[in-house]
Amino acid sequence: MNKQINIKININNKKVKNMTFHVMIIPTLDCQSNCSYCWGSKKGSGIMDIDIIKEIISWLDGFRDDYVHFTFHGGEPLLAGYDFYKEALPLLKNATTHKEAGFSLQSNLWLLDEKLAKLFAEYNVAISTSIDGPREINDYQRGEGYFDKTMKSYKIAKDNGVNVSFICTFTDYSKDFKDEIYDFFLKNEYSLKLHAALPSLRDDNADPWALAPEDHGQLLIDLLDKYLHDLDKIEIKDFDHICKSTFLRRGTLCTFADCMGDTLAIGHDGNIYPCYRFVGMSDYVMGNVKDKPTMENIKKTEPWEKLQEFKDFVDEDCKSCTYIKFCRGGCPYNGIVATGSSKAVDPQCEAYKMIFKNVSDRANKEFLKSAIPPMMDKTTTQNQSISKKRKFSIMDLMLKK
Ligand code: SF4
Ligand code: SF4
Repeated sequence: MNKQINIKININNKKVKNMTFHVMIIPTLDCQSNCSYCWGSKKGSGIMDIDIIKEIISWLDGFRDDYVHFTFHGGEPLLAGYDFYKEALPLLKNATTHKEAGFSLQSNLWLLDEKLAKLFAEYNVAISTSIDGPREINDYQRGEGYFDKTMKSYKIAKDNGVNVSFICTFTDYSKDFKDEIYDFFLKNEYSLKLHAALPSLRDDNADPWALAPEDHGQLLIDLLDKYLHDLDKIEIKDFDHICKSTFLRRGTLCTFADCMGDTLAIGHDGNIYPCYRFVGMSDYVMGNVKDKPTMENIKKTEPWEKLQEFKDFVDEDCKSCTYIKFCRGGCPYNGIVATGSSKAVDPQCEAYKMIFKNVSDRANKEFLKSAIPPMMDKTTTQNQSISKKRKFSIMDLMLKK
């Protein structure tokens, strides 16, 4: 019990000390790939000029007194080119307008060469890249040749000391190959994040691929069951967050927290949006970095009001839900996409309930097991110790650093 309390205090202290403001930089919405269910790209959209980076830095002056984490996202952010990053990274890193900056980048990596990899290694840029499993499954969803192009650059990144993890999107098609997909990541010891293919506000191309909430929930439960055998081999970040959130009773992932204001995204022209998912949608522009809006200015905009409406709606609609403290209605973007209104929770609610219930039930069972000394014969004890060797507990995940 004392151990648990200490861990809570340590985690809480760390949070207070390292409060982070997440600024997503979207250098372009353009992308060279044509993934079937993607809704985040827009061909022919503009590319960010380095002057916008300078405007971001000057806008951040006094905006918030927190650590800033910059994520380059897209579209495909490497389309901005080597010269853009060569200038942007030191400018953002060394600016005195904000506390120490950390960097990440989400990319298909096709344009990564040794020169860029060395630059990203120098600035400790953590990269996430999308691969949906073995070549056949991935290329069926993302297009012929995608797998080889990304994996070739993955090797360049690794050889140059860049930290790369994967994002695996499960669709209505690939959910039926969950075992093959899991084994692919396990065999290669690749760390990953899970995404569910979801509908979008921009286009209906993603609809046939979208994962139904019940399927999504069951997929999470099945994968968690597998993951509990392999915590020493791979990392599935979603489960680490879901378990930690359940333990701390507050969301540690944007989907399960009040993301408003702690994340903002900047489009190629300097427009400010609530998050990368809204970039390019004129109804969600909250200002432009060139005008240096303060947080107070941003709070007076219509998009902010819509997101506030979402929060108020969640407080009312989810008030009797056991998981409200660490789900917070899920992602507001998903709610808005599904209904066209900010007065709706994330339609993946059912999936979240399923996985939170599964994690809570496992934790309760483990607690009971440890509290009540088992009555068993020698054989049972031996079997149990063998299975303990193979399987980690949900508490191991909850307390994972
Ligand atoms: S809108 Fe959704 S994806 Fe964007 S920060 Fe909020 S929870 Fe995360
Ligand atoms: S699980 Fe569903 S009802 Fe519960 S807080 Fe999340 S969105 Fe609301």
